[in-house]
Amino acid sequence: MNQHAKHRVLRTAAAAVCALLAAAQVRELVAHQVPWHLVGVCGSALFLVMFGAVDRLVARFFTVRLSCLDCDFGVELTGADSAEVTRWRAATANHPHHGPTREVR
Ligand SMILES: [Zn+2]
Repeated sequence: MNQHAKHRVLRTAAAAVCALLAAAQVRELVAHQVPWHLVGVCGSALFLVMFGAVDRLVARFFTVRLSCLDCDFGVELTGADSAEVTRWRAATANHPHHGPTREVR
């Protein structure tokens, strides 16, 4: 399984877990007879906030940063396979007037 596929699987699993957690909270709100329009807004907000945070965390593990040692030029690749990383490494290494790049995971 390549990096892109792993990233997609983890992202889907994160969405499922966040949806379950939001649904559990929605269930609590319904049990307390909160009006449906508020339940919908709260449930959506909970899902979006949790998934946004988890998605950023998951993406961090699949992001490669390549940058020039001598200037601010750099790229971030999320879920990229090794061929794409190699291509961008060569591109950043050929950054005008500069030498090799550093890689930060
Ligand atoms: Zn440079």
